[in-house]
Amino acid sequence: MASSKSDSPPLPLSGSAVTAVIAAAGSGERLGAGGPKAFVPVAGRPMIEWSIEAFRASAAVSAIVVAVPPGQGSALAGLDLRLVEGGATRAQSVANALTAVETELVAIHDAARPLLTPELVETLVAVLAESPDAAGVIAAAPVADTIKRAIKESSGQLSTNTVSNRPLVIEATEDRSQLWAAQTPQVFRAEALREALVAAERPQEATDEAMLVEQAGGTVLIHPVEGQNLKVTTPLDLRVAELLLAERKPQSRSST
Ligand code: C5P
Repeated sequence: MASSKSDSPPLPLSGSAVTAVIAAAGSGERLGAGGPKAFVPVAGRPMIEWSIEAFRASAAVSAIVVAVPPGQGSALAGLDLRLVEGGATRAQSVANALTAVETELVAIHDAARPLLTPELVETLVAVLAESPDAAGVIAAAPVADTIKRAIKESSGQLSTNTVSNRPLVIEATEDRSQLWAAQTPQVFRAEALREALVAAERPQEATDEAMLVEQAGGTVLIHPVEGQNLKVTTPLDLRVAELLLAERKPQSRSST
């Protein structure tokens, strides 16, 4: 697993060090908006444009690559982005986007998190630049709820956590003091993420990129996020995001 060794000098923070990759090729079925979630209007613009604006306002980001659903590229025409076609899985969408990445660092972000700020991007980049032994750093929030593990229905049938009418049997209660809810952005040394994608046995099961890098043996750091960085999954999330973004002033690019 390639991550910088401790004898390597820390990466300098240059204005052209990072490419942002926005994963926007999901169908958004759970939102039920009748089309890809990334293009659903939020506070007057397609959801993805909020993330594009935040990356544009970050001095650390020199290029933006977007993985779009097949046939949806024209919706982003004229925005000075590199577009790639998304894949059937999130990992495939990210792998496709990585072919267009030329920088040493890459910041992977879900289009479904439109509350991104340039400050969060720059903080994550700075943390990785100061951590030569790490392959990546992710935004994550402490878990507030008590977390139960329940993998079987009371009938004995195997189940996942999709909502069903049948009660589940609790198998264990996790120690939440050690649990974090992973978010995006997730910033990696691009080569470490490429290697992790190649090495992954079941990349289709990856729900984030850190998981792939962890499985490949790379060290991934957590940067605790306290502010608003919610993921829009349900119609309720969309309403909350709408309210918060409607209060925002347009971002301007931070100076170097
Ligand atoms: O499905 P979920 O909400 O976890 O998706 C997270 C992000 O990954 C979304 O922004 C979605 O557009 C993206 N995605 C993708 N390609 C897929 C599936 C999801 O880019 N095949």
